[in-house]
Amino acid sequence: MHINEIFQQHKITFSFEFFPPKNLKAADGLYRTIKDLEDLKPAFVSVTYGAGGSVRSLTHDLLMKLRMERNVLIVSHLTCVGSSRDEIFKILERYSSSGIKNIMALRGDPPEGEGKFTAPENGFAYAIDLVEFIKKHFPGIGIGVAGFCEGHPETPNRLQELEYLKAKVDAGADYICTQLFYDNRDFYDFCERCEVIGINIPIIAGIMPVTSFSNMKRMSELALGARFPGKLLKALARTTTIDQVQHVGIHWATEQVMDLIDNGVKGIHFYTLNSSNAALKIYENLGVSDSDAFE
Ligand code: FAD
Repeated sequence: MHINEIFQQHKITFSFEFFPPKNLKAADGLYRTIKDLEDLKPAFVSVTYGAGGSVRSLTHDLLMKLRMERNVLIVSHLTCVGSSRDEIFKILERYSSSGIKNIMALRGDPPEGEGKFTAPENGFAYAIDLVEFIKKHFPGIGIGVAGFCEGHPETPNRLQELEYLKAKVDAGADYICTQLFYDNRDFYDFCERCEVIGINIPIIAGIMPVTSFSNMKRMSELALGARFPGKLLKALARTTTIDQVQHVGIHWATEQVMDLIDNGVKGIHFYTLNSSNAALKIYENLGVSDSDAFE
C-alpha cells in the first residue's frame, strides 16, 4: 500500500522504527519487540539503512523477514552513501519486486571515521537527487524525507535550509518525518515555518524517550544539536537508578505525545532502539490499548 493511503486512512499515524540486528541474539530480541509492538497496531514500521555493506545486507534480511512474516506496512530507509545510481536502481528494483513500496529517502551520514559526506562516484550528493531518481524510475513508490525541527548542522542558514526541504517536497516527497526532539515548541515552530513556505504534506513527529544516560549522550552526538530542555535534565539529574531514568524519560515522552495529539499532529514516529518497553509504557500511560483509540 502507498503511504498516502495510510495517511488518508488514519487521523494520526503511529509508527515504529527499527535498525537491523547485528547478530542472532539481537535478532531474537528484535523479533520479540516487533511482536509486542504489533499489538499496538502501528500504521507502519520503518527499517534504517546503515553506512556499510554488511549492515546493508542485514537491513535487507530484516525487510524480507518482516515482509514474509508480518502483516504490517514497511517503509525502508535508503541513503545516498556509497552507492552509484546503478546500485541504487538495483536496490529499488529489488525492493519493488519484493513488495516494499515505500522508501524514506535520505542523504545519509558519512560512515564512521569520515567527517564529511562525499557524493559517491556517479551517485547522489543530496537526498533531493534520490527523491527525483525514485520519482522518475519508480513513480509508484511512496517517499518520506527527513526534516530537522532544530535545524540540520550543515546548514546554519535556517531560511536556506527550509528552501532545501521545500525542494525535496516539490520533487515528490509524500511526507516528512522529523529528527527526534524533546521540546514540542521546536516541532510546532518547524510546522509553522513549513506552512509559511508552502509545505503542506504530512509532517510526522520523531519521538525517542530517554532510557539511559549513555543513549542520551549517543543521541546528542548522532542527532547533532538535539536540545535537551533544562526541565528534563533537572528531572534526570535527580535519578539514581536506571529504572528512575527510564521512568523520567518515558514520562517526558508521554507528555510530549499527549500534547502533540491534542495539537492535531498528523503522525508520531517512535525511534524504538529495538525495544518495546518505552512504547508499551507510553500507550499504557495514555490509557489506551492500541493506536485505534485515536481514530
Ligand atoms: P539532505 O536533505 O540532502 O540534507 C543534507 C544537508 O545538505 C542539510 O544540511 C541540507 O540543508 C543541505 N542541503 C540540501 N540540499 C542542498 C543543496 N542543494 N545545496 C546545498 N546544501 C543542501 N541516516 C542513515 O544513514 N540511515 C538511516 O536510516 C537514517 N534514517 C533517518 C531517519 C530520519 C527520520 C532522520 C531525520 C534522519 C535519518 N538519518 C539516517 C540521518 C540523515 O541521513 C542525516 O541526518 C543526514 O545528515 C541528512 O539527511 P537528509 O536526508 O536530510 O539530507
